[in-house]
Amino acid sequence: MFPLSRFLKKLHPLIHRIYLFLKPAYWRLRTPAQKKFDIKLQYIFIGCFIGVLLTALIIPAAHHLISYPTDETQAHFSDLITEEPLSPEKTADLKEISISDNLLLNEAESQIIPIALQLNKNETLSGLLTRANVNIADALAASESLTLITDLRKLRPGQSFELYFNEDNIFQGLKMEMRSGEVVSTFKNKNGDFIPQSKEGKIETRQISLEGVIQSSFAAAAKEAGVPNIITQQVIRALDGEINFRTDLKAGEPFKIIYEKKTTETGKEIGKSQLLYVSLTTNKDTYQRYYFVDGLGVQGFYNEYGESAPQTIMKRPLGRGRISSNFGTRIHPVLGYQIHHDGVDFPAPTGTPIPAAADGVIVRLGRNGGYGKYIKIKHNNTYSTAYGHMNAYNKELRVGSYVKRGETIGYVGSTGRSTGPHLHFEVIKNNKQVNPLKTYTLPKRTLKNRTLQAFKERALEINPEYIYPIKN
Ligand SMILES: [Zn+2]
Repeated sequence: MFPLSRFLKKLHPLIHRIYLFLKPAYWRLRTPAQKKFDIKLQYIFIGCFIGVLLTALIIPAAHHLISYPTDETQAHFSDLITEEPLSPEKTADLKEISISDNLLLNEAESQIIPIALQLNKNETLSGLLTRANVNIADALAASESLTLITDLRKLRPGQSFELYFNEDNIFQGLKMEMRSGEVVSTFKNKNGDFIPQSKEGKIETRQISLEGVIQSSFAAAAKEAGVPNIITQQVIRALDGEINFRTDLKAGEPFKIIYEKKTTETGKEIGKSQLLYVSLTTNKDTYQRYYFVDGLGVQGFYNEYGESAPQTIMKRPLGRGRISSNFGTRIHPVLGYQIHHDGVDFPAPTGTPIPAAADGVIVRLGRNGGYGKYIKIKHNNTYSTAYGHMNAYNKELRVGSYVKRGETIGYVGSTGRSTGPHLHFEVIKNNKQVNPLKTYTLPKRTLKNRTLQAFKERALEINPEYIYPIKN
């Protein structure tokens, strides 16, 4: 044996065999049957080789076809994605593309700088944006606008985004290419609102103003004025605790409602309509409420002074139903010995919606031992509420989501240590459970300084008649 032959045999028997095929001496010594077998083996080798070669050629070609639309500007655009600021010529190209794409970039911007970023594991889009030093309000507004046209919960780690900043490093918008190949984007318009765009076209936001006079009930008058049911519910929720809609309203009193609705260019309504302003006169007073989202993304209704109403924590989130177990010491039905019951149990059929007992932010959402599926909402530095044994959560919520009083957070179930479907409800005051059936009031929130200034500007945008009143 030659040293080369020995070396190849050591390396791998198959490589050795290939080497032998190439030597005439090898063929001379083989019987016809062995030769037939060798030839078969040769075909297999050649087949595999061609297969590997084709795969190597086809995959990048196919990838190219799938990843990048054949549209020339798009292909050109993908070449421009870079972490580095672009040279002036490249910026000029990009602006052209942006215009041809019909994006609402601020015309005054002379230079738009894109950066490419990829989604990390367990990161949300707003998380990615804050990582890129986008301020929280813009990060939330941009992702919120995209939820109108795509399901952001389906984003996978590694998803790339192109973020655009102007020369002052102010975030202008973003583009992403989805796995389907569709490109969606959202860009700031002149008013600072993020306008999402998909293949269905731009999303238009329209403000609708309706007026009416109360005859019998508010709901009936609102319906007559053409107010959608969802907006009527938002009005009732915005004034909950301040107006008794059964006793405080009298016939002949006027009301005005302004709300916002979003439609595609083809006129298809998408997303949820949002109440922006309500003015309602009762036998006591005229109530005006403006919808405002502060710099941290907290939504709320405020009066003309920029004050939110004090809010009480709901005692019975499921309404006037039976109580199967009160707050305090009792014999536990499953464990069989005396323990302290940290909340109140409200039996209800599986699937009954559970509302948030007050405005707040979700600080915990997930399985929690005996509580089963569990949500905890923080209302302020003093108060939190907790909800146990849920069957399911509202799929749109996660830790960090803001919820409004009355908004559905999940559904009654019997998960965890539970004998049947019920809501286990806790009110937590300074980290200690207290009796939920007592009254707890969250103080009113007063907007100050820059937030108050932003509120005044927003109020004037919503209602051109807005004037900041002088307190007497
Ligand atoms: Zn309980």
